[in-house]
Amino acid sequence: MIESPINEIDIVKAKTSKIEKVDFNNLAFGKTFTDHMFVCDFEDGKWQTPKIIPYQAMTIEPSARVFHYGQAVFEGMKAYKDENDRVFLFRPEDNHRRINKSAARMAIPEFPKDYFFKGLSELLNLDKDWIKPGIGNSLYLRPFVIATEPAISAAPSETYRFMIICSPAKAYYKGKVRVLFAEKFSRSADGGVGFAKAAGNYGAQFYPTSLAQKKGFQQIIWTDASTHEYLEEAGTMNIFFRIGNTLITAPNNDRILDGITRKSVIQLAKDLGIECEVRRVSVKEIRAAAQDGSLKEIFGAGTAAVISPISAFEHAGDVFEIDDIEESYASLFKQGILNIQHNEAEDLHGWRFEIK
Ligand SMILES: *Cc1c(COP(=O)(O)O)cnc(C)c1O
Repeated sequence: MIESPINEIDIVKAKTSKIEKVDFNNLAFGKTFTDHMFVCDFEDGKWQTPKIIPYQAMTIEPSARVFHYGQAVFEGMKAYKDENDRVFLFRPEDNHRRINKSAARMAIPEFPKDYFFKGLSELLNLDKDWIKPGIGNSLYLRPFVIATEPAISAAPSETYRFMIICSPAKAYYKGKVRVLFAEKFSRSADGGVGFAKAAGNYGAQFYPTSLAQKKGFQQIIWTDASTHEYLEEAGTMNIFFRIGNTLITAPNNDRILDGITRKSVIQLAKDLGIECEVRRVSVKEIRAAAQDGSLKEIFGAGTAAVISPISAFEHAGDVFEIDDIEESYASLFKQGILNIQHNEAEDLHGWRFEIK
């Protein structure tokens, strides 16, 4: 990790706020942005003095390498407010560590930790009115890095831009998700970039996912690329299976994203005395458990939705419905994580990070 002395951040405040125009009860996810954004350029072999400026369009040359070779990585995190207007992040050191892991895989320079934290804290202090208190409200934060060098030879960029933009989010109950187990397409492969939050991982999923949607399934659960026999994760969420009273989730590897929500669920399960096995999960095993009635739940885990219950899966032309159950693990973990995030439950593991 690069540690560099923090320079002051240059701040240009927005002259007026857009906040009065926003209907916080009707927010489409990721379409409204706050008044400010954080920008830091990598030039001459180092990250320059960061800036916070009004959220605005930017100009970039059409030859910028990001457009041609996809050198781009991102993070997804959220800021929360408690009833006393204190602002918190959830395990942000893990986001910093992960964006640098993603960056390294894409030959992008690592971003200094002090810039990351100073940037988040200044930005959130400027835009804190955009974070509404109450469980289910949050400010989604999108740090990302793009290759900006105007040059189209196939080589890593000499210049980059690191940015953070912020979008207010409201958790709606979107209904349960129906999924398809992948049999043909793959999201990632051994030695590839599946573990990284690299932009191209998402672009490559849109087409197979659109085919699944035409068949009535909102998402795909990706399987291992070589045999399609083992269940790995969804496009933006890690996946848990509950057979009887035991949870099972796939181990991390270079094909699977190391989700912070996943890690938190595994820890909370341990705290609650729920058995959680981290091991390979086969399609065969889940089909058999669905048939004999021991499959109780499948749910996804990720920052955006926290926990998403899955109501059905399709594999090899067969559709398996998963009945609702009372006191599901999905709702237990969702409530448990939200309560910690919003400062309404004890933070046994030091996950909350207060922005002061
Ligand atoms: C971001 C992401 C997740 C979830 O990670 P969290 O840290 O829990 O938000 C899972 N899978 C993929 C592919 C992702 O991009």
